Amino acid sequence: MKNRYLVDNSIDPLAVPDTARRKLLKFTALTASTGLLWFGVGSSAARASGKANTLLLSCMDYRLMDEIERYMLRRGLYHNYDHIVLAGASLGAITDKYPQWSKTFWDHLDLSVKLHGVHTVMIMDHRDCGAYKALLGEDFFQNPQRETTEHATKLMKLKAMILEKYPSIAVETLLMNLAGEVEMIQHAPLA
Ligand SMILES: [Zn+2]
Repeated sequence: MKNRYLVDNSIDPLAVPDTARRKLLKFTALTASTGLLWFGVGSSAARASGKANTLLLSCMDYRLMDEIERYMLRRGLYHNYDHIVLAGASLGAITDKYPQWSKTFWDHLDLSVKLHGVHTVMIMDHRDCGAYKALLGEDFFQNPQRETTEHATKLMKLKAMILEKYPSIAVETLLMNLAGEVEMIQHAPLA
């Protein structure tokens, strides 16, 4: 069992905080009830090859880290993606307020392509994003339609920039809500 660590009996559920314990028990129950242990085989192969399928760019928001990992798991990408974390995700990569963030993104994408041969970039924005609020000065969460528009604009802008530099890379543009549900954003909003 290469993947025993996923249901690690050495972790004492009573020794970890309440929230973490609930998540641990929930995840343990999920893996046990749905037979999700299969993904350990594919992930071992990916690690042995030194290649990764995908580069994920997500926000740093602590509330969604578990949901993001679960999403990648459902997509069959467990242990098969590099992960860049920038506040605001797409906005973080293109904002003029922190140009070093943009450089960090491009440097990492370049390394990810060279080192691991990634051929897909997933940009994962999320709703109620504090970075969007802080950098753009507006609380978009109160207006979901406007929020979608803002994210779509930034996601499509970064996608176009990536495709200009790496025409053969596939780019997915995604928006997660606070329940962990993900919608694909296909188009920039109409002007
Ligand atoms: Zn955020």
